Order: sequence, then C-alpha cells, then structure tokens
Amino acid sequence: MESTPLTKYQLSDIIDQSKCPDCNNPLMGGPTGGIMRNILCSNPHCRQEFNVDVTFGLSGYRSGKASEERAQMFGPRLDRKSVV
Ligand SMILES: [Zn+2]
Repeated sequence: MESTPLTKYQLSDIIDQSKCPDCNNPLMGGPTGGIMRNILCSNPHCRQEFNVDVTFGLSGYRSGKASEERAQMFGPRLDRKSVV
C-alpha cells in the first residue's frame, strides 16, 4: 500500500478534532505499533486509513482505502481528544 504524508492541517483534523480530513466523519481507532496508530474513517463510503504518530503528533501518513474486512479490526469511534 502506498503511503502519502499528511499535511499539518490534515494531522490537526485527526489528532485535535478526531475527524476525517477527507469527509469530516468520526474516526475509529485501530492497531498501534510503537508511537504510530492506525486510524480509520468510520464513513463506509470513505474508509480512508491513516497511520499517525499519536505520541508526538508530528507526522502521519495516508495508507489508502481500507477494505470492509480490514475495517472490522477498528473501533470504537474515537471521541475528540481520545486519539492519543
Ligand atoms: Zn473519511
């Protein structure tokens, strides 16, 4: 899967607002690995997946559109400020 870096504005949407930078819908938390966390858009029509440094909030990547099978690994929805 190709990874595209997120802009600081997109990172802010995810980390500060807990919303998808593409469609503004709530996000769901997924597996973490080190300081990075997989985060998925809860909108079935978007399903954009992100891999974000939730510890320092300095970097994040767009991982592409997740399959519904993969989406089952995510949840529950993240409330504002619960990303970290
Ligand atoms: Zn979305």
